[in-house]
Amino acid sequence: MAGSPSLLPWIGGSPVDVDHFDDLIEPYRGELVARVGTSDEGVVARAVEAAHAAGPLMAAMPVHERARLLRAAAELLEARQEGLARAITAATGKVISHTRRETARSPWTSRAAASAAETLTTTTPPPDLIPGGERVHSIALRCPVGVVAAITPFNAPLNLVLHKVAPALAGGNTVVVKPAPQAPGPAIELAELLTEVGFPPGAVNVVPGGAATGQALLAQDRVVLVSFTGGAPAGRAIRAAAGLRPVLLELGGNSANIVHHDADVQLALDQIVRGGFSNNGQSCNSVQRVLVADSLYEEFSERLAERASELVLGDPMDPKTDIGPLISSSAAERVHEHIREAASRGATIRTGGGRHDAVIEPTVMSAVDPTLRLYCDELFAPVVLTEPYRTLDQAITQANRTRYGLQVAIFTRSIDVATEAYTALRAGSVVVNRSSNFRLDQLPYGGVDESGSGREGPLYAAEAMTYLKTMVIAPPPGR
Ligand code: NAD
Repeated sequence: MAGSPSLLPWIGGSPVDVDHFDDLIEPYRGELVARVGTSDEGVVARAVEAAHAAGPLMAAMPVHERARLLRAAAELLEARQEGLARAITAATGKVISHTRRETARSPWTSRAAASAAETLTTTTPPPDLIPGGERVHSIALRCPVGVVAAITPFNAPLNLVLHKVAPALAGGNTVVVKPAPQAPGPAIELAELLTEVGFPPGAVNVVPGGAATGQALLAQDRVVLVSFTGGAPAGRAIRAAAGLRPVLLELGGNSANIVHHDADVQLALDQIVRGGFSNNGQSCNSVQRVLVADSLYEEFSERLAERASELVLGDPMDPKTDIGPLISSSAAERVHEHIREAASRGATIRTGGGRHDAVIEPTVMSAVDPTLRLYCDELFAPVVLTEPYRTLDQAITQANRTRYGLQVAIFTRSIDVATEAYTALRAGSVVVNRSSNFRLDQLPYGGVDESGSGREGPLYAAEAMTYLKTMVIAPPPGR
């Protein structure tokens, strides 16, 4: 398409020219949105060099200044949120009402990182806690690690980049971002915006490209820490390439949501519709499995199916649309194959089940064999499965029947039930009376098992991106 913009790597505070471009095609109409300048090894090396060169400036920047700049960035993100939202929808087909939620959250992620900069501190136990420590003094400060590599997914291509870049800066580091190839624009715009507010050139660099660009980044020795959000297969490859360097992994999920006998059923229904079908189900913490107390099961499943069938499919740019395309036709094809496999093995389709190119109809299914991919894999699609349970113990066993462990939710009016579930569920977070899709950006967030390791939330990410350096001051000998 004539006039489609070019997206270029952002290095050392400016865009840089490259030799090779890839077409960025949006999945709803299949139209060309932009031409993306792909970063080869040479471009990646330049970006890492720029980040390395800016390291001393960032490390020397006082905390009050880091915090001030992150808050200034938040103001610009707020002012530009509509343009960013439209660009994300245009590239990925994420429906505009959901994209607007993402861009409205992003300024707060930056503000939370500013507070993280201000509170990143630690205390040490008293040196004289053990013999030999008498009259010794100690301090331990958090120091920047250096150049951080941030590799990010397509599904929230602004806020998930901020979840790495803002804490890295809060901790006094520099960053090279390898954004998702389906949506590199927001990362580039963010880097530009951070330069505009006053972060030094080279503090944030962006190298668009695919897996090869990610691997080229990991091949750079000056990268000292890798922060990755994406799927488990890429996570494995990244960990393998990282060697001895620390790797923070925010991976996928297969979230169970328990609707207990004593739940506020209307609340559970509203939240599960929202949490299962937002962003076409393409969130790591989307509602995938709904475990419903047997006294409520049949009616709840039917009402859920009815609500799902009322969702509006259509143009992602239309504010009335609830369900748009998945990120690609091949992603939709994969999910559709899982749906058909389960149906042929006895599962009930209560609503949906169809595919129209990249669009998967909002689907509610029951009686899915728990050994099938539809049940076990991360679906990343607007498909919700319901299953009954009798006792809370059974619900917990069923919820834990997964190799993932990101966010789990329970709807109950009982604090005893909620605390029992919190204790027994194996997951990074247990949400009570909101769906698994609920996230407050400042709280610790991350998984266990195949959902990853490490925690995001700016304070926790900033801690992980700094190292503790201890100073021990001993008294002069003989005194
Ligand atoms: P993906 O794993 O395919 O890609 C993520 C990023 O990794 C992209 O930038 C990609 O180019 C890069 N990449 C892929 N293979 C690589 C390799 N071998 N070496 C280096 N880089 C490589 O994921 P996606 O399809 O963009 O996003 C969906 C996945 O992300 C889902 O599994 C979802 O659950 C997960 N996710 C997790 C969280 C979380 O916070 N836990 C949040 C959002 C998305």
